[in-house]
Amino acid sequence: MLISQKSKEIIDSCRFCWMCRHICPIGNATGQERNNARARMLALSLVEREAEPLSGVADNIYECAMCEACTKECVTGWDPVKVVGEVKLELALNGETPEYVNTMLDNIEKSGNVYGKTAICDALKAAAEKHSAKTDTLFVIGKTAMYNSCTNAKRAIELLEAAGVEFTVLADEPDTGYEMSFLVGAAQETKDVMSKAAEVFSQYKTVVAYDPADAKVMLREYKEWDVGMTAQAKTFTAYVAELIKDGKLNVKKGAKKYTAQDSHWLARSLEETEPIREILSACGEVSEMLLNRRDTMLAGNLIMNEYMPDVMKRVAEDRWINAKNMDTEILVTESPDEYELLSATKPEGIELMTVEEVVLQCL
Ligand code: SF4
Ligand code: SF4
Repeated sequence: MLISQKSKEIIDSCRFCWMCRHICPIGNATGQERNNARARMLALSLVEREAEPLSGVADNIYECAMCEACTKECVTGWDPVKVVGEVKLELALNGETPEYVNTMLDNIEKSGNVYGKTAICDALKAAAEKHSAKTDTLFVIGKTAMYNSCTNAKRAIELLEAAGVEFTVLADEPDTGYEMSFLVGAAQETKDVMSKAAEVFSQYKTVVAYDPADAKVMLREYKEWDVGMTAQAKTFTAYVAELIKDGKLNVKKGAKKYTAQDSHWLARSLEETEPIREILSACGEVSEMLLNRRDTMLAGNLIMNEYMPDVMKRVAEDRWINAKNMDTEILVTESPDEYELLSATKPEGIELMTVEEVVLQCL
C-alpha cells in the first residue's frame, strides 16, 4: 500500500495490542472484534505483507467512525485513525472503494451531498433568506443539518437573531469538504472542494460552523492540507458561549438539569469541551455522564447511517444507556448527526435537546 511510514509503524504497533478494544463504540455495538483498532490494523498488516488483497479490508475500513476514542486512549501515542484516512485514499486511488461509498460520491457530484437530497425545508430556506446580505460573519449550516436537521438549523438562526448579531447565510453555501474527507481522505478532489469553500469563507472575518464536523475540517484539515482560509473559524458552541459572556444573549438560570453529549469532533479533534458547559451552567444545573469531555462516546454518524443503519442505531442506544445509568434528565447535543440518531432511539423519561434549543428556552 502507498501509505506513510508512520502509518506502517502504527499498523505494526497496534496489531498485537488489546489496550483500547473496550472503548470502540462500533466494536461495542457489534460485539465483533474486527471493529476495534487492533483487529483492523492486523487485517492491514496482512495487506502490507501481500497475504490479503486491499479490497478485502475495504468494508472494515469504512466501519471505523474515525471518532479517535482509540487514539485518545493509546498511552503509547499511536493513531489508528491516521491509517484509516490514508487507506481510504489508497482505496479511492485504486478504484476499490465499496459500492455504497461510490453511490455517496456520485450523490456529492450530482446533488452536492452524500444523501442525494436536493430539497431544503421551507422554514430553513425562509430563515436563511432573511440573512442573504453580506456581513462580516458567515453562518455555515453544513450539508448534514441542511438536509437532515432542518428544524434545529432554523433554531440556530433564530438564536443568532436573538443575540442581535449581524450575520450572513448563503443560499448556495459551499461544501466544506467534510463528506469527501470522511469518504476518501486527503484526495486532490477533497482539497479542491475545500479550496473552493475556503475562497468563499475568506470573504468574511468570521465563519461560524454549526456542525462540529465542518468546524473540525476548517480548523484542522484546512491547516494540515494547506488549504488557505483567512477567516477565523469558530464552532457554533464556542460562538454561543461568547455571546452569553458578552451579554448579547441574556440568559436566565433555571432549575433544569442538563447533561452534555460531547461531540467527539469538538472534544477530541479540536479539544473543545468547556463552551457547552459554560452555556448549560448559565441556563441551569450541569450533571456529567459517564464518558464525558475528551472521553466522550460517539452517539451516531449520519454518513455511516447510509450504509450501516443497524449499527448506528445500536451506537445511539448504547449512549442512551450511559445517559440513563447516570440519571440524566436532559441530554444536550452539539452535533446534528448525534441529535438525529439519538432522537430516533430516545427512551421514555429523558429529554433530548440541542444547545440552541436550551438557550432559546432560557432567554
Ligand atoms: S491505538 Fe494504542 S492502545 Fe489501541 S491498539 Fe494501537 S497501540 Fe494499542
Ligand atoms: S476511531 Fe473510533 S470507531 Fe474507529 S477504531 Fe477507533 S474507537 Fe473504533
